[in-house]
Amino acid sequence: MANQILVLAVLTMTSLTCTLVIAFEPSPLQDFCVADTTSSGLHIAGNTSNPLGVRITPVNVAQISGLNTLGISLARIDYAPWGVTPPHTHPRATEILTVLEGTVAVGFVTSNPDNKLISKVLNKGDVFVFPVGLVHYQQNVGNGTAVSLSSLSSQNPGVITIANSVFGANPSISDDVLAKAFQVDKSIISDLQIKF
Ligand code: MN
Repeated sequence: MANQILVLAVLTMTSLTCTLVIAFEPSPLQDFCVADTTSSGLHIAGNTSNPLGVRITPVNVAQISGLNTLGISLARIDYAPWGVTPPHTHPRATEILTVLEGTVAVGFVTSNPDNKLISKVLNKGDVFVFPVGLVHYQQNVGNGTAVSLSSLSSQNPGVITIANSVFGANPSISDDVLAKAFQVDKSIISDLQIKF
């Protein structure tokens, strides 16, 4: 009962300024549970010769097993001129991005019903936050290459790239569903499904 009153009190106080958050990853039960705590090579530029003109080099629990239970990870992003990180979301992490080199336009969209785009053009040293679960993107809008470094609040943030999820699902989502959902002809859905 005392706990319930406390929760209500916290709810009342937090609802004035922000939304109540349910915790994600459990707190560690020990200092660390795997000895591997290092990785190297993050100074090396990723190869951006691909249709998106972007290369993401992750440093998460798959690269450093010592991140297990610690709720944190990194990613380096290299951008060719006009390279795009397509709209995507991380189901388990907030992302904080720092531009190390170049000029990067970034944005995220708030959830329904507002779907408000929060966007900014970032220069070297600028920082931007993408709240957990929200769809976001990045684009190099300078003439040279760009580099950014993201920190993410999960050992394994996960990535859902919207186009791949919707048009590249295996097996495919029915074109009836997609044609109605996007309010376009089925031939347009087929064209998109072929690309993904
Ligand atoms: Mn991201």
